[in-house]
Amino acid sequence: MKKVAFYTLGCKLNFSETSTISRQFEEKGYLKVDFQENPDIFIINTCSVTKNADKKCKKIVKEAKKISPNSYVTIIGCYAQLKPQEISEIEGVDAVLGAAEKFRLIELLDDFAKAQETKVLASEIQEATVFNNAYSINDRTRTFLKVQDGCNYGCAFCTIPLARGKSRSNTIESVVQSAHEIAATGVKEIVLTGVNIGDFGIVDGKRNERFADLVYALDEVEGINRLRISSIEPNLLTNEIISFAAQSKRFVPHFHVPLQSGSNTILRKMGRRYLRELYVDRVTKIKTLMPHACIGVDVIVGFPGETDELFLETYNFLNELDISYLHVFTYSERANTRAAEMDEVVPMKKRNERSKMLRILSEKKRRKFYTENLGQTFTVLFEEDVEDGKIHGFTENYIRVAAKYDPMLINELKQVTLDQINDKGNVEVLEPEFVFEKH
Ligand code: SF4
Repeated sequence: MKKVAFYTLGCKLNFSETSTISRQFEEKGYLKVDFQENPDIFIINTCSVTKNADKKCKKIVKEAKKISPNSYVTIIGCYAQLKPQEISEIEGVDAVLGAAEKFRLIELLDDFAKAQETKVLASEIQEATVFNNAYSINDRTRTFLKVQDGCNYGCAFCTIPLARGKSRSNTIESVVQSAHEIAATGVKEIVLTGVNIGDFGIVDGKRNERFADLVYALDEVEGINRLRISSIEPNLLTNEIISFAAQSKRFVPHFHVPLQSGSNTILRKMGRRYLRELYVDRVTKIKTLMPHACIGVDVIVGFPGETDELFLETYNFLNELDISYLHVFTYSERANTRAAEMDEVVPMKKRNERSKMLRILSEKKRRKFYTENLGQTFTVLFEEDVEDGKIHGFTENYIRVAAKYDPMLINELKQVTLDQINDKGNVEVLEPEFVFEKH
């Protein structure tokens, strides 16, 4: 029995895809093992957004070869699609597969026989038009279910359309079927993932279905306790979806909505499809219907043309907005993007300073959000996340909760009253007398 090990860099989508590819191997009789367990085959799923993707990839390959010098090393993922030749020159790499090929890996590489030459199977990204269903299982308490792939937007800074191709989706029927399969394994929470999830519904190049209808259909799936939308563009997060989530049986009051900049000048330069006024409108709508909702925000600092004044616009905008946390990205140039050609480049030192300022603001926002919710009762899904004798989990509105460790709590949903914020910044539950939630 050949042993295969996986390594995933990047986003939830990559995790769902690695998990699905690993199941393909298991179905074919391979033994899935940990990276350290002397595998015969390594599959490394890369990311192009990750800083220093090339260095990271090289490091992992080196490590793999140290563990198993005669192993077969395959590189897949966004970075493999963007730079197949560059990767093929890394010492120790046996094969590089692009976006259109990665789900046919076992068939294309056949018996994983080592050859003199590195195999490069990466078609042009235009060839990646098929949607491949994927979800993670057994890896975490929550499952990442991929419902959409690719993107038809062309934001000036982004390489994702180059790495993943045009927008395409699963069908509602097939997603619902996957949700039933996932429920049958005992997983309690599904996180819906995609590149541009609000654009769900394009099948074979035609718009057939709507994301809102997918939301309605999934809300009816028995056996899944929670459904979370991973991230959705503000212009696609409609009143219809927000209103439905507010009275849904299963969709949780947590939204992650990319903003990228609080300055309309920069938003226009980035080629985003909304202005800050729309963002305020979305936040207001969510908070009016669900005052306890958690709202996470992606923001990029140091985009070309972001003067001190324009950055301050973003800072003040976020400071005043009723949001719960930020994911801050320091802008870095990516080859073949419009932004990489733009003037008014912001010096790296300034980018880092701005990033630091927003990270501090994020902590302030998170603490305020947690404080507002103290004394209230929520449901926590405990995960296999143990640190200093404490087990952790998240409430429906994404508050990270710590409780005294008890292995019986893993993958259990419990009602808790939020007592206090501990020195690690998590909300602590002092009274471990949990009440079982009925489902
Ligand atoms: S919406 Fe913009 S940032 Fe998001 S994946 Fe598409 S092009 Fe990239």
